[in-house]
Amino acid sequence: MIRFDSVVKRFGDHVVLDHLDFTVAPGERVTLIGPSGSGKTTILRLLMTLEKIDDGVVWVKGEPLSHERKGTRLVPASERYLRTMRRSIGMVFQQFNLFPNMNVMENLTEAPVHVLGRSKAEARDRARELLAMVGLSDKETAHPTQLSGGQQQRVAIARALAMDPEILLLDEVTSALDPELVADVLDVLRTIAETTDITMLIVTHEMHFARDVSDRVLMFDRGRIVEEGPPERIFTSPREERTRKFLDAVL
Ligand code: ADP
Repeated sequence: MIRFDSVVKRFGDHVVLDHLDFTVAPGERVTLIGPSGSGKTTILRLLMTLEKIDDGVVWVKGEPLSHERKGTRLVPASERYLRTMRRSIGMVFQQFNLFPNMNVMENLTEAPVHVLGRSKAEARDRARELLAMVGLSDKETAHPTQLSGGQQQRVAIARALAMDPEILLLDEVTSALDPELVADVLDVLRTIAETTDITMLIVTHEMHFARDVSDRVLMFDRGRIVEEGPPERIFTSPREERTRKFLDAVL
């Protein structure tokens, strides 16, 4: 579903990803852990095509994402190509980023109608299903400012799902929430993990959640994978000193 092939990303002289290779299988749930600044968010932003890579190729569903095919060559991707490729990928951010001038229903139907060309009725039906799933059926006409952070984040998750993504990217989605609101958001994500086959790439500091939902954990340090494996092993018997230190600090 996703393949990073010797990907290099720099900001100025600072090499953030240094010939990074990894793959994610269809339906797999992979959590990225590691100290702040190790490149985790940058990986999600590359997949959302919010950043460009400096070398290597990012592949999604067997097609290049960072590039497009011209005959047998790969050339840098055009904006038009990126728009199409982006459709299979949904992202939820730390800050909920709802459209502030739209109510909940409008937030959920805007892109399905304008990007996917769905009818308003069809988009609304799907939005209602998703609002039921995130436990917010009674908030259709509420505006984002009338909702708690946890409720806004659940709307943001529903909005991402309204585009029927094959890949869902979750970037620290509970970090901006008051502690008592975190559990509801994580419960929604657990439900999605249990009831769909969406491929999920997760950046989180919620290690219990990571352990529950992940098939695999990748431990990053300075733009490289220092260790990877199933969560039970990584969290209980990490092999690398760097992983042990990181887990001691966050657990
Ligand atoms: P993480 O998510 O693991 O905390 P990030 O991917 O956010 O790490 O950041 C990796 C490194 O890239 C950090 O050193 C950060 O300062 C740098 N970085 C990220 N985005 C930018 C940017 N837009 N401009 C300059 N440096 C950046």
